[in-house]
Amino acid sequence: MRPARALIDLEALRHNYRIAREVTGAKALAVIKADAYGHGAVRCAQALEAEADGFAVACIEEALELRAAGIKAPVLLLEGIFEADELALVVEHDFWTVVHSLWQLEAIEQATLSKPITVWLKLDSGMHRVGLHPKDYPAAYQRLLASGKVAKIVLMSHFARADELHAQSSTEQVAVFEAARQGLAAEVSLRNSPAVLGWPQIHSDWVRPGIMLYGATPFEEANAVADRLQPVMTLESKVISVRELPAGEPVGYGAKFVTDKPMRIGVVAMGYADGYPRQAPTGTPVLVAGKRSRILGRVSMDMLCIDLTDVPEADLGSTVELWGKNILASEVAQWADTIPYQIFCNLRRVPRLYSEG
Ligand SMILES: *Cc1c(COP(=O)(O)O)cnc(C)c1O
Repeated sequence: MRPARALIDLEALRHNYRIAREVTGAKALAVIKADAYGHGAVRCAQALEAEADGFAVACIEEALELRAAGIKAPVLLLEGIFEADELALVVEHDFWTVVHSLWQLEAIEQATLSKPITVWLKLDSGMHRVGLHPKDYPAAYQRLLASGKVAKIVLMSHFARADELHAQSSTEQVAVFEAARQGLAAEVSLRNSPAVLGWPQIHSDWVRPGIMLYGATPFEEANAVADRLQPVMTLESKVISVRELPAGEPVGYGAKFVTDKPMRIGVVAMGYADGYPRQAPTGTPVLVAGKRSRILGRVSMDMLCIDLTDVPEADLGSTVELWGKNILASEVAQWADTIPYQIFCNLRRVPRLYSEG
């Protein structure tokens, strides 16, 4: 069997979820959209269900997958419905749904629902992606109430730059939100992971942690709470070939790396078809036989090359950690000019093996 695999530590996932609740004192929806950022939504939901206040996914397809697997906890559709007839499924499966557009509000007003639903009413407080305009927000709230089709409303918005701890943007978004919700008596939900970790002063009855659950920091700078997170995924494989090369020899496609001295090269069964970023350049860290080393040359589809020159104990069959508890996904992301979110979401082909810690 090909040795590439992703080990998923479910106890670390629970540890991180507890931190989100502990540092905010709020109720927390575990965000497990996009197959739990590549970690496996059903297994993650099962691991958290006994203690989680609920889950959040992007769309009804992801929500139905959870119900089909027997998950009974609340599930919020972060983008709400995409078509009006999804409301029947929202009722049938007790999903909570975001209303971010006037057409979704009208769809609820016009629908025949066998029981009232829970709506999270989203304000565009400055990100300008989805959400109602502040001038429409109070009226939308009143219309939902008047429709008789809504049992509960939570007021929500989303930050564009909460990962930038010195930017004014989040404070400005809170001010827009506070002005728009004046006089509306309902719980509020603002904080995603960077706001949970880095913006303790922002009030949020419900928080929506995503990336932090998986143990990765959304920040480029150090953060005391993020330091307490435990990486959930370890992507590992093995050395499948070793060769000694003299100085001046090219390694891999495009001869992007040329040996500058006699070197020992290891080939690892891991490539961009597994989700390892092709953009990762020479120097991107790996752990081999317990020691930090680096990749060399271009990442190819099924393999990549690493430097074993200073790791004589590494040999055929040595275990290589691409990211995990020693090589942080956020570090690999920086080398590859991306973010840990995408590093995780891109995972494919490798089997996921789950453990309880
Ligand atoms: C994805 C998402 C989150 C989680 O964001 P993280 O940065 O991963 O914590 C929270 N809220 C909304 C609306 C989202 O779309």
